[in-house]
Amino acid sequence: MAQDRTRGDGEMLDAVVIGGSFAGISAALYLARGRRSVAVVDEGETRNRFASAAHGLLGHDGKPPAQIRAEGLRDLLAYPEARLIAGRALRVTGQRDDFTVELAGQSLRCRRLVLAYGMRDLLPDLPGLAEVWGQTAFQCPYCHGYELSDRKAALWMGGPHVADHARFLRQWVPELTLLPDGLLSEQDHATLTSAGVRVAAAAPVRLQSDGPRLQVIHLSDGRTLPAEVLYMATRAEPACDLAAQLGCRMEMGMQGPIVAVDAMQASSVPGVFAAGDLARPVFGAGFAVAAGVMAGTACHRSLVLG
Ligand SMILES: Cc1cc2nc3c(=O)[nH]c(=O)nc-3n(C[C@H](O)[C@H](O)[C@H](O)COP(=O)(O)OP(=O)(O)OC[C@H]3O[C@@H](n4cnc5c(N)ncnc54)[C@H](O)[C@@H]3O)c2cc1C
Repeated sequence: MAQDRTRGDGEMLDAVVIGGSFAGISAALYLARGRRSVAVVDEGETRNRFASAAHGLLGHDGKPPAQIRAEGLRDLLAYPEARLIAGRALRVTGQRDDFTVELAGQSLRCRRLVLAYGMRDLLPDLPGLAEVWGQTAFQCPYCHGYELSDRKAALWMGGPHVADHARFLRQWVPELTLLPDGLLSEQDHATLTSAGVRVAAAAPVRLQSDGPRLQVIHLSDGRTLPAEVLYMATRAEPACDLAAQLGCRMEMGMQGPIVAVDAMQASSVPGVFAAGDLARPVFGAGFAVAAGVMAGTACHRSLVLG
């Protein structure tokens, strides 16, 4: 009878990878190529799923995120050592050489774990933002700035790096207005003025759009700002609490808490590796692939050498 590659069937797997996107598929690919049994548990909600296309990843520039994931899974599942288990990992227990991953209705046992479940963006409570997020509202100009260059844009941001970030954005945006999230210093004002960045005097209260196309930002003083693109800084948190369940040491990334790892992507818990946005202060698909490869090879090495 053909092996059912969607089930754990109680056997001890070499590794379970939680999260099947850029980082997780890359890690699993290296484990499978190292001839180790590996299951990827994934519920399919990648961080960039709100965007129509992903950019900046070798060989995939401009493809829809779901297509990139599907192509990655197709490559991975060509290896008989690998299997995909669609669903959410709810609980993880155990220790190196004997972990248990619980999903609704089934559990998996494994010797090593790779956590690659990504981060969840915590969008501010701004009416209209959900409609444009990933289409004309973004965090990262490298990801989508090129396609939207030369359009009227606003940057909604605060903190000590705001003036530098606005100057940086001018690379893509000739007409930029800063919506300061907090007070600006005299020095910031001077830097922004000399960089040709306008500063709005009020905060955004509502976005008006035509479907996913941003049109107007309504401000708290009753004024309106025509804008086709909104760049903003968001906070983020791990997409689930499995690292906390295992007791992995966390550290503060640029957007929120991330899993602390060493140069081999090993977490503070023996036998547990972490990769991708979950374990990197600066996000990006290419970074996630690279970290996934490192986690996969380091995990494989620890299976072989102990
Ligand atoms: C709007 C937007 C657009 C972006 N555009 C780009 C771009 O153009 N180029 C670029 O390089 N980067 C882009 N990024 C960043 C990019 O999305 C991330 O850097 C990348 O997705 C990180 O990959 P990852 O594998 O770490 O995590 P993710 O891609 O987020 O994948 C994590 C996976 O784990 C799954 N998961 C979570 N918890 C569990 C659980 N408990 N059990 C099972 N599965 C679970 C999720 O469902 C998901 O499938 C964008 C981000 C956003 C928000």
